[in-house]
Amino acid sequence: MCGIFGIVGHEQAAARTFQGIHGLQHRGQESAGIAVLMNHRINVHVGMGHAADVFNGDVLGRLKGDIAIGHVRYSTAGSSEIHNAQPLQVTTGKGRVAVVHNGNLVNASEIRRRLVEEGSILQGNSDTELILHLLAKSPCRTMEDAILDALCQVRGAYCLLFLYDGGVAAIRDPQGFRPLFYGRVDGHHAFASESAALELVRAADIQELEPGEVMIARRNDVEAFKWRTGQQQRFCIFEFVYFSRPDSVFSGINVARARKRMGETLAREHPAQAQIVIPVPDSGVYAAMGYSQVSGIPFEHGFIRSHYVGRTFIQPSSSERTAGVRMKLAPVRSLIEGRDVVLVDDSIVRGTTMQEIVGLLRQAGARSVHVRISCPPTRFSCYYGIDTPDPSKLVANRMSIPEIRDYLHADSLGYLSRQGMIDAVDGGDWFCTACWDGNYPVPLGDARQQQLFSMKSEEEP
Ligand code: SF4
Repeated sequence: MCGIFGIVGHEQAAARTFQGIHGLQHRGQESAGIAVLMNHRINVHVGMGHAADVFNGDVLGRLKGDIAIGHVRYSTAGSSEIHNAQPLQVTTGKGRVAVVHNGNLVNASEIRRRLVEEGSILQGNSDTELILHLLAKSPCRTMEDAILDALCQVRGAYCLLFLYDGGVAAIRDPQGFRPLFYGRVDGHHAFASESAALELVRAADIQELEPGEVMIARRNDVEAFKWRTGQQQRFCIFEFVYFSRPDSVFSGINVARARKRMGETLAREHPAQAQIVIPVPDSGVYAAMGYSQVSGIPFEHGFIRSHYVGRTFIQPSSSERTAGVRMKLAPVRSLIEGRDVVLVDDSIVRGTTMQEIVGLLRQAGARSVHVRISCPPTRFSCYYGIDTPDPSKLVANRMSIPEIRDYLHADSLGYLSRQGMIDAVDGGDWFCTACWDGNYPVPLGDARQQQLFSMKSEEEP
């Protein structure tokens, strides 16, 4: 996952972009970067860590220019290193161009192999760099035509912003796996991964790009057209379950309300005998509220969350994640001791984090712990932009539900059904649900090899 933001024609383009990517920080915490166009030149600043660590007033002051794109990164293809930090920038026969990407290409290995055979020299191991090579090699004369020509050769999930002399091209893939929004900030064109990031910079006229839609924003105009048509939308429902901000809205549906309905259905599907409902903060909060309201069991903030530690699921290594749990969550003993607890979280991926959290409740004196999860068991890997690369590491791929319950040291375990999850959003047929049912909407091709390639690169010194 990643967060992307762009703005065109604004005299404080870098400052607004910083605010935008700061509002998308939950989508990636490994690196942050901004590219700005000034006097036909593109200046880029990237660094490892949070946006607030990478940028300060001095740095933003040096990024002069009125067109900018920005990125916060969580690596799904390519290792967590500075040379993979975005925006990536290159010089082509069509001029200079910088790009930011949210998503994951499923035919990256095939493209990489072809490019290397043809003599291309690749800097990093991210799939985004491949798009720039395809663009540079395109016979099309204009940047805009070359971008679309390059995208004809890729498959998978992508929301992209290209910055070049004159404007920003925003593109959403034909299935619309990942979200992308347009709005007007102080009268200027802007783009962001989530509506909440545009709200944060006081954008007006916020609208979602449709799957397969291209918007080309220049200083004085904006042009929108469908680049690809006729494909069924497959929006990642995990954006509703976990990833996105609760105040974001997709297709008119607020994320917080959908999460609450997931909790309500969870309570009907998996009731429990308990005295309190406790969420795993922050992503389990709304589902726990829904569970509490339907079950009648009081909701309590049983964990104090440190706001100085990032989201544990999106920290790259397992040891960092486990240590991160104890740094992040502190149980409130006086609420927990001697009580039967319903513990609500959005998902279980590897199981290590949840095992730690159940252990924290037991140490705080919980009499029993009933784990309730507001999505089905995650049995399959995602190849469209979420970091679940190896199915053997998914606890639900290796174990039955009773075995997972025992592994977690929980007294009971209940997952929301697939239909319950879909109905909690709007009951529609516009979602990708592959990590629960294995029905991959875009053929995976060599995506598995690509992920193995990325993992191997990370292991190399
Ligand atoms: Fe989202 Fe899962 Fe589909 Fe990946 S496989 S896009 S996480 S629903």
